[in-house]
Amino acid sequence: MAHLKTRAEIEKIRAAGRIVYKAIHTAGCAVAPGVTTAKLEDIASQIISDSGGSSPFLGYAPNGHPPFPAWTCISVNNQIVHGIPGDYALREGDIVTIDCGVELNGWIADSAWTFPVGDISARASRLLQVTHDALFKGIAQAKPGNRMGDIGWAVQRHAETNGFSVVRELTGHGVGTTLHEGIQIPNYGRRGKGTPIQAGMTLAIEPMLNSGKKEIAVLEDEWTIVTADGSLSAHFEHTVAVTHSGTEILTNGE
Ligand code: MG
Ligand code: MG
Repeated sequence: MAHLKTRAEIEKIRAAGRIVYKAIHTAGCAVAPGVTTAKLEDIASQIISDSGGSSPFLGYAPNGHPPFPAWTCISVNNQIVHGIPGDYALREGDIVTIDCGVELNGWIADSAWTFPVGDISARASRLLQVTHDALFKGIAQAKPGNRMGDIGWAVQRHAETNGFSVVRELTGHGVGTTLHEGIQIPNYGRRGKGTPIQAGMTLAIEPMLNSGKKEIAVLEDEWTIVTADGSLSAHFEHTVAVTHSGTEILTNGE
């Protein structure tokens, strides 16, 4: 079921997206050895509340999960997504993903970014670059006349030709008045397959790439998802609006 937005509704999501951008990148500027993930949560949550927004993550409890206890998901190294901020102090060489959603005046935007902590390995650096670029290759396919499989195909192809694997169990999604609006956007797929992409769709596109194998595991907190083989994982996400005059990124601070 596609929820097609008007121009005015897209601009409301963009307003939420500006706060998302500020929260992620202000916290990202604080990333350094010795900084706890709870500190990054504090920075992001303060910006969101000061901006009049709220968190669609806080208290989120799908399918009998315990309610998510924070405004951001902060996932370090082999953690793929849904890490819970806490007293872990970042170490030189880590990678850390800050994933953040904001609700403003009833409309939601969602984005994530993986940051290096100090100097990181060449392999980790390459993982960040390839995952970042996979996001933009996916976004380039998000246009009327294409299908969701075109997005997944572009992400998967870029990941795998560069020697990384794509998580299967977690997908991008429609976003609007709710955090997950029905449509799923796998990060793998076949060209020309899947749900047709239409102008007015607002989509959270979010490649999650692993440096090792694609399989996942869930920690005992029932939230944190990790790579089964312990390899590093990176995650980049933007909320975008599909329009007839091009795809607009709503979480890039513009
Ligand atoms: Mg997100
Ligand atoms: Mg998302």
